[in-house]
Amino acid sequence: MAHVFRPSANIERLKESATIAVGAKARALKAQGRDIIDMGVGEPDFDTPAFIRQAASEAVEKGATRYTNTQGIPPLLDAIAADANKLIRPGSTPITAAEVVVSNGSKQSLYNACVCLFGPGDEVLVPTPSWTSYYEMLELARCVAIPVFGDVERSLKVTAQQLADASTARTRGVMLNSPSNPTGAVYSADELTEILDLAAERAWWVLSDEIYQRISYDAPAASVLQLTTNRDNLIIINGVAKAYAMTGWRIGWAIAPLAVAKAMTAFQSHATSNAAAVSQHAALAALSNTELTEPAIRHMVAEFHKRRDAVLAVLAQFPSVKFVYPAGAFYIYVDVHGYKGADDPGTLFADELIETENVAVVPGGAFLTPGWIRASYAMKQSVAEEGVRRIARHLVAGRREKQ
Ligand code: PLP
Repeated sequence: MAHVFRPSANIERLKESATIAVGAKARALKAQGRDIIDMGVGEPDFDTPAFIRQAASEAVEKGATRYTNTQGIPPLLDAIAADANKLIRPGSTPITAAEVVVSNGSKQSLYNACVCLFGPGDEVLVPTPSWTSYYEMLELARCVAIPVFGDVERSLKVTAQQLADASTARTRGVMLNSPSNPTGAVYSADELTEILDLAAERAWWVLSDEIYQRISYDAPAASVLQLTTNRDNLIIINGVAKAYAMTGWRIGWAIAPLAVAKAMTAFQSHATSNAAAVSQHAALAALSNTELTEPAIRHMVAEFHKRRDAVLAVLAQFPSVKFVYPAGAFYIYVDVHGYKGADDPGTLFADELIETENVAVVPGGAFLTPGWIRASYAMKQSVAEEGVRRIARHLVAGRREKQ
């Protein structure tokens, strides 16, 4: 008798990552020979800086081929703590290596934190739109993600008041992400401080995903470490993927209160053990050679900045096309509300766009806002300009068609 797979109760409601699915579709069409501009991926197009690749090769030759301790190799834990200590507010207790847990990408750090902090019956506030995986990770942790929708006048960011209004006696935490994926919006220090104050008062956990913190154009993006001396309820998530162009190495980390760091380490010890030894050495090279890494980061951010400005210049030619002002990260979030009267205009628009204009974007439904689409401009400037031009052209033509 054929053995039938029925999803377990754990994954019954799990959805595949929409961003990864768009990437797969774009790759499949490219393989058929179509000239696709893939604005779906959230990944820098730069290569990992050469000295980091070199350090990794040397580490392998010297024997970095075995298990490491679960939490991460001690010099990397020290380097992460030292890096974070550059940001801490005067008067804060310095971060120690014991508070750091290294994982297979910041995605796993976030997942570890969700599983260890939240469980059945708990509610966690998710400023929305936000990165698609938060909702699913919280679902896997068997708690309830409560989307809190931001207003368009505030670049879809949420206020402390909106979070307070959405909270209940079961609220246990809030997910923060500034600069934001998918919108590129950056929270000001004041906006974040109000949220931190509320969370401290209500004894909520704050998971601050700062993976795009270095990628901010008009002003530096604040880290929560700069805003408070109280880390009792803070989990800071970061990694090397975006700022260091190291997505494939899969190194992220959490900085958490000692008891939480221990729980996350215990959980990880059963789930995946340690992050790859070679990748930990690569991340160590990235963090400890600041004289080489800082210019590399500055160069990459300057390039993203030029592309951001170029994309804005293209959009300025289409005044009817609205979008969230992209102050950081490398995404542009375009408003497609009302497109051809569809219930899910983002999905219809994205489907048509790839078919007729050969441009892949992510429908906003993936971020619980179906009236939008996300396009990444982490690619050659001329290609990003062309991609955004086609998006705008298609949107304007589609609206005209409907009238
Ligand atoms: N957090 C956000 C907001 C992201 O956009 C991403 C990747 O797209 C991640 C975390 C995961 O990054 P990593 O490659 O470190 O797992």
